[in-house]
Order: sequence, then structure tokens, then C-alpha cells
Amino acid sequence: MPPVIPPVPDADDRFFWDGVAHHKLLLQACADCGRLRHPPGPMCRHCNSLRWSTQEAAGRGHVYTWLVSQHPTQQDAAPRIVALVELEEGVRIVSNLVDVDAAHVVNDMTVEVTFVDYEGTVLPQFRPVGGS
Ligand SMILES: [Zn+2]
Repeated sequence: MPPVIPPVPDADDRFFWDGVAHHKLLLQACADCGRLRHPPGPMCRHCNSLRWSTQEAAGRGHVYTWLVSQHPTQQDAAPRIVALVELEEGVRIVSNLVDVDAAHVVNDMTVEVTFVDYEGTVLPQFRPVGGS
């Protein structure tokens, strides 16, 4: 597998990566209208509020769409499945699917988050509920 490039948290998404380090999937919630958003940002696109808090996601959702990515210089490595997962909370997150063969991925596949440690870099990944 190609090396994982560690995330570089900034003021907007530091809470997200801190949560991931503790195996929690945290979403940004507007403190005024209550809507969730992801990826994190400084302002609510619904009410323009700059106030926000966090809400822990249940970690379950479904595959909205996906693609299979093969690194050009590592053709012998297993391809990555890059997925857009729609969480039960209604927001979407780009991640990878693990514990499933690319040939078995289908739209609307029910998935759950799992936190994978890639040589010290913990990333939220998703796997099929009940196995592949
Ligand atoms: Zn809002």
C-alpha cells in the first residue's frame, strides 16, 4: 500500500482529527440552526453563523458512490476504494472502504466506521456492516 500522508489539521478541522485520534467521528454542528456540516468550515452555509459545537456521529451510513484508485507506481499494491459515504446524520464524508473486495461494492451498501492506524496515522475508514 502506498504511504499514508498524515492530515495537517487547521483551525477549522482540528476537532475532527482530535476526535479521530480518540476513535470518535465528530461532526460540526451549527450552534444557531443546529444543522450538521462536513467537511468542517468556519461558517454555517444555512444561517451564516460562526458559532458551532460538535456532535459525535453514530459511525454508520451507506455508500453514496465510490471509485477504485490504483497508484501508478505501485501496480502490485492492492487498489484503494475511495468512497463518498452518506452518514445516518445526513452529511457525507470522503473516506476509504476496507475489509471488502472492490468487486463487491455496490451503491447503498451499509457501512460502519472503523479507525485504522497506518504506521501512526489514524484514519477513519468504513467497512461493510456484517462483513463483505
Ligand atoms: Zn446554522
